Amino acid sequence: MLIKKSLRMHLENNFDWIIIGGGIHGVHIAASILDKYKDSDPKLGIIDPWPHLLHRWYSHTAATGMSYLRSPAVHNLAIDPFDLQKYGGKKARYKQVYFRQPYSRPSTNFFKKHSELVIDRFKLKDLHVQAKVEKIVLGNDHVEINCEHGQNLSSQKIVLALGSGDHLNKPDWAATVPNTEHIFSENFLWPEKGENRNLVIVGGGISAIQAALYAYTIGFKVHLVTRHELRQFQFDSDPGWLGPKYMAGFLKQKSYEVRRKMISHARHRGSAPQELIASLRKHIADKKINFHHSDVRQAIVNGNEVTVELANDTKIEADMVLLATGFKRERPGGKLVANLLSEYQLPTASCDYPILDAQLRWHPRLFVSGALAELELGPAARNISGARSAARRIVGKRA
Ligand SMILES: Cc1cc2nc3c(=O)[nH]c(=O)nc-3n(C[C@H](O)[C@H](O)[C@H](O)COP(=O)(O)OP(=O)(O)OC[C@H]3O[C@@H](n4cnc5c(N)ncnc54)[C@H](O)[C@@H]3O)c2cc1C
Repeated sequence: MLIKKSLRMHLENNFDWIIIGGGIHGVHIAASILDKYKDSDPKLGIIDPWPHLLHRWYSHTAATGMSYLRSPAVHNLAIDPFDLQKYGGKKARYKQVYFRQPYSRPSTNFFKKHSELVIDRFKLKDLHVQAKVEKIVLGNDHVEINCEHGQNLSSQKIVLALGSGDHLNKPDWAATVPNTEHIFSENFLWPEKGENRNLVIVGGGISAIQAALYAYTIGFKVHLVTRHELRQFQFDSDPGWLGPKYMAGFLKQKSYEVRRKMISHARHRGSAPQELIASLRKHIADKKINFHHSDVRQAIVNGNEVTVELANDTKIEADMVLLATGFKRERPGGKLVANLLSEYQLPTASCDYPILDAQLRWHPRLFVSGALAELELGPAARNISGARSAARRIVGKRA
């Protein structure tokens, strides 16, 4: 476990707050706590196994080759929602480079630059403990956090901001197929050039489409295989879920089973915005991308050669197979969260997700965000806006 020098003094004492997970959610919540309680200078640590905060966000967005975010500029990691636009400056020429309409969506690079600015502003790098948490012990007057390699930390309060990135969804047929990667696997890196090799991309959502368009630009012969029709939605849930329009009814609903159904109904899984679908259709019409609307029946492996056979009987010789099949639907947190449940009988709904209070507490010392807070924050809980809602609930209203 790597611990920054400035953190060592904290380790002799108790932390006030420890955030487990240094992704989009962990970083924004950490900044929000430090901002809200700046007068008392809280001792805060962020535990995350990667060398840099936001590692997962950077590697996932790079893997898709996406150049603009799906969400608007006000969904960013700073405290002030308009900070990213202010950072862009007033000149229109900057705005055109940094933001794309509709909804002023920031470019991936500009969002990254601004996120690093937020990290610097709150000196979050100094608070990063590079480790993976294996066990959490909830005590009466503190929480003990056991990390791999035997290091223990203790804190008054903790926040789980674990993301869903550990649970990649891979179809069974792909398990033993050579030259096959999941787009969000840590091993996946685009080669510099496709060299006219046959690339089969499986999936029909935003990541699959972005990857197909990117793969074409670097010279792959792209086959996009999707089992469902292209689903066009600007966002992955209606913006009405970001405010009282839909959230008021959601929060009035006492049944968590009904809340779960509302979330499933509201989330446009496997969808993509109009501009990407239009660009894909143009590439298909111009015969730059081969589009197959079919399920995969099997992959036939002959030495290092792979033939992907589709349910509609098409056979594609593939030099490389890329799975853009998203994440599993299971509850995030794996064993870490399962242990908490069994040790402390924390309340869960029938879908196995936490039942939380309005401050997102699962226990007086344990707060959660992201998908784990879905039954309280609704369908946008996993997104950047979900990180902002989680922070507002955890730290309370800002002055
Ligand atoms: C390609 C892509 C594009 C997206 N684009 C948008 C967008 O435009 N707008 C939007 O609103 N949303 C978008 N999202 C959705 C969402 O905002 C991202 O998935 C975001 O990364 C979620 O942040 P997170 O902090 O919950 O999870 P992550 O970014 O996955 O971070 C969680 C961190 O927790 C760490 N962790 C997990 N378990 C432990 C443990 N036991 N101990 C210590 N650390 C642990 C992980 O290693 C990881 O570093 C996108 C998602 C993807 C995949």
